[in-house]
Amino acid sequence: MANAIAFLIVCLPSITLSYIVVCLISPWGTCTRCRPGGRNRTCRACNGSGKRPRLGWQIYVYLRRLHRDGTR
Ligand SMILES: [Zn+2]
Repeated sequence: MANAIAFLIVCLPSITLSYIVVCLISPWGTCTRCRPGGRNRTCRACNGSGKRPRLGWQIYVYLRRLHRDGTR
C-alpha cells in the first residue's frame, strides 16, 4: 500500500505536466455533444465548430487573465 502511494506521488506531477503540455500544444478538443455525427451547426456547446477548448486551456486562460488584471 505504501508503495502504491509513493508511486502516485511520483507519477502525479508528471501526469499533470504532460496534460498541461497537451493543452498547450492542442488547446482545442472535439465537442462531446456532436462528436458522433461530426459537425453540427445547431450545436450550442461549440457554436457549430465541432471544437471545444480543453478544461486545462480554460484554466490557463483564466489564470492568464487573472494575472493580467492583477498586474495592471
Ligand atoms: Zn458541438
